[in-house]
Amino acid sequence: MITLDNISKHFGNFTALSGIDLAVRDGEFLALLGPSGSGKTTLLRIIAGLAFPDEGRVSFNGEDVTDLKVADRKVGFVFQHYALFKHMSVVDNVGFGLSVRRRGQRPLKADIRARAHELLDLVQLGGLGERYPAQLSGGQRQRVALARALAVEPQLLLLDEPFGALDAKVRKELRRWLRQLHEQMGLTSIFVTHDQEEALELADRVVVMDKGKIEQIGTPEEVYMAPRSGFVSGFVGDINSLAVTVVDGKTRWHDRMIDIDPDGAADGPARLDFRPHDVALGAEGSGSLPMVVTSAYRKGGDWRVEGTVGGAARVIEVDLPADGPQPRAGQRLSLRIGRGRLFREDEEARR
Ligand code: ADP
Ligand code: MG
Repeated sequence: MITLDNISKHFGNFTALSGIDLAVRDGEFLALLGPSGSGKTTLLRIIAGLAFPDEGRVSFNGEDVTDLKVADRKVGFVFQHYALFKHMSVVDNVGFGLSVRRRGQRPLKADIRARAHELLDLVQLGGLGERYPAQLSGGQRQRVALARALAVEPQLLLLDEPFGALDAKVRKELRRWLRQLHEQMGLTSIFVTHDQEEALELADRVVVMDKGKIEQIGTPEEVYMAPRSGFVSGFVGDINSLAVTVVDGKTRWHDRMIDIDPDGAADGPARLDFRPHDVALGAEGSGSLPMVVTSAYRKGGDWRVEGTVGGAARVIEVDLPADGPQPRAGQRLSLRIGRGRLFREDEEARR
């Protein structure tokens, strides 16, 4: 439905986006995930028609909209700090987009109010229409912003860290509710976040961005279980990294062999990434890592154990079954890594 073809954008001689290709499917909930400065907002603004690419094309349903302005694209958007109009009641805020339409396309005043009240019911704020923004909580204000975005019946809803300023609990509730609303209204939504948990929980597919480029596009499962680059591996989900060496096609850590297939990585220094739950306790000896525990606490059904291996400063986090005794600080554990991935620092995007 939405296609981006080789988009690039520069600010002076700084490259904010380069070579962006993306196809967003009709009805999809897509997350743009990446660290601050990776180009997410710039990309969203280009999709909205609030900014224009230096190169590349944007099309909606096969129609080239690259040069169309925001008012002609039928998009709704909600930004993190998209302040409501303070001097307008909630219902007038929601109806704003309709009330500024050109004569001829503008509904009657009474119809705009009726529509705004319907939308307020939809975002579960029925009855609060006559209040002013200052009389609402942060979460309620973001829902008003969402109702305002939906008032113009967008085919596409764009959200730029809409819940970024809210506390964790409200944020979690709102994102679940947003996902339901997306389904219920049959929207196509693109959601920007730097929070990997939020992206993995909400999205049908996640677009992982770094330094103005797309690193990987995939389902939450794919980007989590099969990261295509060291960047994605390090950014999505909890991860441990160990400096290892590939010698004669085998993985070695100090003088021990580690039972992880280098999967074709050339001999030389490499980074072994593994997740906290990818380990099990094993016998001390070759193939195991000696971990010195610094702390342990309950996390879900497991012990989350923190410690160090081989005297390295970097903390390693592992999950061990909570039916065993709580590991104590100073205790030595022998870990076997059951699953992991090797990345060559000099070799990007290994599969
Ligand atoms: P994100 O939303 O992922 O944090 P942005 O798209 O906002 O990233 O910004 C990407 C990069 O482009 C940043 O380094 C930012 O400073 C730069 N940038 C964004 N907008 C402008 C602008 N109008 N002028 C100059 N630099 C900009
Ligand atoms: Mg941003």
